[in-house]
Amino acid sequence: MSKISFPAFIPSKYALHNLNGISSYYSRKQGLGDVKKIEKVILEAKRKVEKEIGYSFLRPLAVCIYFDTKDSFRCLHRELSSSMLLVPYSGSDGSLIAIHSETANPVNGDRDRMLRHLSHEFVHLANWEVSGSVKKMGDKSIGMKIPPWLDEGLAEFISLRITGRLANFLESRMVTAIAKSCTPRQIDQFLNNFDSDGRTEAFAIVTSVVQVILAKTSWSELFKDAAKISELEKNWGRYIGGGRRGDSISISE
Ligand SMILES: [Zn+2]
Repeated sequence: MSKISFPAFIPSKYALHNLNGISSYYSRKQGLGDVKKIEKVILEAKRKVEKEIGYSFLRPLAVCIYFDTKDSFRCLHRELSSSMLLVPYSGSDGSLIAIHSETANPVNGDRDRMLRHLSHEFVHLANWEVSGSVKKMGDKSIGMKIPPWLDEGLAEFISLRITGRLANFLESRMVTAIAKSCTPRQIDQFLNNFDSDGRTEAFAIVTSVVQVILAKTSWSELFKDAAKISELEKNWGRYIGGGRRGDSISISE
């Protein structure tokens, strides 16, 4: 398998393990058993997302398992929690998922939790591939061709459905989420601002919006022509649960 060109995000001393098309970079301080264990979960999440949306990933996939937050800080120049996972890079030459080791935080060894979070990231990767978006951590999303509300809504809704947690989520959080009028761009701002109090509600809103959209349109149809997404934004008010035609989406502060 060819080497993917994002060395800056991977510590130079890390070893490489390949499994079914996934290149995993890991510290030699970590047992290969741990690496193989998480690779299985990664493959499962990838398979489930592909099946759910009827899509096969095109970009080569690499995973960096940071041994600790010192290593992730050194490569990503950002202080991350040891339970955090993210995608620092996705381009035509490949995508990189970054996670932390089980040694850094035992929750990273929790299969169900990782399956949930990895599925969410795989939906993002599929959204980006099919829309021709590219991402490099710190680029302020200039290469994104999908609005955050749709990107996060799809990632959240589809990963919840895959892991059987959808009903739970919508019942417990949706109802309280509606209070103040918002446009898609305002929702995008909430989603992009990690310190915002409205971020959780914004996630609930976009999950619900995407649920309604996917009841009528398949995932792949969304990306067939560029006009589809702006059409959805125009009719946005219809997508909120219980909303009347023309109502705007509201979220609480
Ligand atoms: Zn996300």
